[in-house]
Amino acid sequence: MPESAPKYDLILRGGWVIDPANGHDGVMDIAIAGGKIAAVDSRLAGASAKKEVDVSGLHVTPGLIDLHAHFYGGGGGFKDFEMNPDMYGLPNGTTTVVDAGGAGWTNYGGFIDKVVHAFRVRVLGLLNICANGMYTHHENDPKSLMPEDCARTIRENPGVFVGVKTAHYMQPDYASVDAAVKAGDLAGVPVMMDSWPSEVRQYPDMILKHLRPGDIHTHFYAQQFPWLGPDRKVAAYMWQARKRGVIFDVGHGGGSFWFRIAAPAIEQGFGPDTISTDAHSTSLYMPRATMPVTISKLLCLGMPLQEAIDRSTRVPAKVIGRSDIGTLSVGAEADVAVFELERGKFGYVDSGGARMDGDSRLSCMMTLRAGAVLYDREGLTRPDYRTLGDYKRAD
Ligand SMILES: [Zn+2]
Repeated sequence: MPESAPKYDLILRGGWVIDPANGHDGVMDIAIAGGKIAAVDSRLAGASAKKEVDVSGLHVTPGLIDLHAHFYGGGGGFKDFEMNPDMYGLPNGTTTVVDAGGAGWTNYGGFIDKVVHAFRVRVLGLLNICANGMYTHHENDPKSLMPEDCARTIRENPGVFVGVKTAHYMQPDYASVDAAVKAGDLAGVPVMMDSWPSEVRQYPDMILKHLRPGDIHTHFYAQQFPWLGPDRKVAAYMWQARKRGVIFDVGHGGGSFWFRIAAPAIEQGFGPDTISTDAHSTSLYMPRATMPVTISKLLCLGMPLQEAIDRSTRVPAKVIGRSDIGTLSVGAEADVAVFELERGKFGYVDSGGARMDGDSRLSCMMTLRAGAVLYDREGLTRPDYRTLGDYKRAD
């Protein structure tokens, strides 16, 4: 009788699994077969796999979703800030990234060919309301706002574009946000708004009247939104906007996550709905706006790990209508992250030039995309070299 083939390709054994979409928060084994999650159970002891990896003492989560980052400059000036999705995502447990507005309807073909189809990390997009996306200064031109063309392009590319982006519009009016919402209505997708308020364009009106429930305000912990009163209390209109369903997203980046705003807000219960980085090439090292570092900063400000993972997986997936990702459900693509959570004394820098001492640091140990181990910081999936007898490469 030949030995039967192992049932699974890989089992991650004994990790602390946090999968908010399925209510998992405890020690479990995860089995993967054919690139999909095959089983998640505390009793997979008898099961066999081609490879088994001991991840005890570590946290296992769905691959993170970064709802706001930058990988495409629309062929113009923002090109210098573009990142490589794999080089950014894989060492950071981030298996899905959403390019926030790099492409517009006239140049989205380059985004699909050179970015979406070119990397292992899953790349989705928010299509810019402006025809040429983030092409230099173009977003500031009212004539470039084209809601019908934007919506048509989104409808024609449903696996790629999951929303509309309005950003960097410095005219004093609401034209950009209103055009983006019109496109969002026509295409049936949410809008992400990045905006600098003006005398005419008031922030409370943007989130209470112009954005719809389900639309996203990114950068809400940035200096230009003075919603903390002199007593450091969160303004009543913020709670109203949250109640009507506006999504508040971190969008850390170089300018938009200030500890001075976030700390009192989180203390009062006004944390982010979604955690994202606004990562681009110049924000990666100062102030280190990656997903694990941004989550670490929020942990140090008092957010529980389970909540931070929820806001980096299940919630962003729901916001963009992609509940098939950000989960370890059986049958889902096996996008998995393994993290080490250290307790000690660590320092963090924010976008306002400030420093914070913290007690937690989350860092990525392993990243799997569709079942393939693409990042393995300490070789957990590899045999000890002393056990290998010849010059054959170990798989
Ligand atoms: Zn951005």
